[in-house]
Amino acid sequence: MQLKRNQELFLRDGRKIIVTDKLGVGGQGVVYKVHLDSGEKKALKWYFETKLSDTEGFYRHLAQNINAGSPSPAFIWPEELTEWNNGTFGYIMPIYPKGYEGFAKFITARVKFKNIDAMINAALNIVTAFMDLHNKGYNYQDLNDGNFSINPLNGDVLICDNDNVGGHGFESGILGKSRYMAPEVVRREKKPDKLTDRFSLAVVLFILFMGDHPLEGKRTNVPALTSKYEKRFFGDNPLFIFDPDDDGNRPVEGLHRNAIAKWPYFPSYIQDAFIRSFSRESLLKGNDRLLETMWRHVLIRLKASLVGCPHCHESVFAESEEFACPACGENVKPAGYIKFPKRANMDILVPIMGGARLFTYHIDENVQDSGCIAAHIMEKPGKFGIKNESTSKWTITAPNGSQAVKNPDEVAVIGDGFKIDFGHGVTGEVVKV
Ligand SMILES: [Zn+2]
Repeated sequence: MQLKRNQELFLRDGRKIIVTDKLGVGGQGVVYKVHLDSGEKKALKWYFETKLSDTEGFYRHLAQNINAGSPSPAFIWPEELTEWNNGTFGYIMPIYPKGYEGFAKFITARVKFKNIDAMINAALNIVTAFMDLHNKGYNYQDLNDGNFSINPLNGDVLICDNDNVGGHGFESGILGKSRYMAPEVVRREKKPDKLTDRFSLAVVLFILFMGDHPLEGKRTNVPALTSKYEKRFFGDNPLFIFDPDDDGNRPVEGLHRNAIAKWPYFPSYIQDAFIRSFSRESLLKGNDRLLETMWRHVLIRLKASLVGCPHCHESVFAESEEFACPACGENVKPAGYIKFPKRANMDILVPIMGGARLFTYHIDENVQDSGCIAAHIMEKPGKFGIKNESTSKWTITAPNGSQAVKNPDEVAVIGDGFKIDFGHGVTGEVVKV
């Protein structure tokens, strides 16, 4: 049953809503714009009566999620249910703000990120949203490219279609889109849970960075992807397109152009994170996937290492040791790297090259907003420095034991073996390569 303009409905808590416009139609129902007596505007998702198998169970499920609350502001979360109306119901949620574009538009290059930082921020925001979701005891169940909207200017992320999000043990009956489902779910060995969400998360991140699917290469290049093939390629016999030990599913020239072009631009530790996420252990046994915290460390390392190539001046991601510039092929040798204590058993390194950045994340483990710049690496012929752009005083200790204090806005010249105490219980050590 479709709703009419100016139709009045009541929410479960007694508030009245009035339908003003239709915003869109989806598989399960229609989304309307409504307003409350207070004047507040909301979106209303109104279900088609026939599309839910267990309508009353689904109503209870949504009520539980509303009572438990949204995992974070990144989720367009149900706020309140309507009363039943002719065998169906709906729920209100925040109206989508302007400036966000669907993830699919980024994949097909109809929308581009403003810069590389925005792209990495989007990845970090997706990872953080899933960390928040899992920490609150939910899992996503139906994660795919239709769930994300991203602001191309800054990488802010909104996650929509959260109806099927459930607590552990909840079964929505929805298995997810096969290209995003963990192989063990495709194989019907497991129901979606936190661990299978982590596989889907790795797929989303791979597609965000590489523009192609991690399991679609020459082996999957069939005329029609029938369900038999889907089960084989994404369930029974999946193979990562960049598996280091098996080249049987490499991307195809002319067909997977993005993956072929973009993969070499990413540094070894990002490639390794994907190799691990799509290893045979992960694909066939569900083991060894990266936790969200691990992704966070890897992604911030990526963001910190964005520098200009000294030869061709293209923006590239520096390795910690000598590497070939992916843009011009010339060898680039950072002076060294700043090494921090490992977190979640991941290396925390910042290359010493002009332009490399440290964030509040590096100097203070307890900050939530990790994206503020705390320092830049400065480069002059023959010497390197680190500029304090944080609000704290730093203590620099040279290998001979001499110490200097650097206030905000001051630059410390650094060399091999120098230790930098950033003032929040974190010390970084300069390691020359
Ligand atoms: Zn270059």
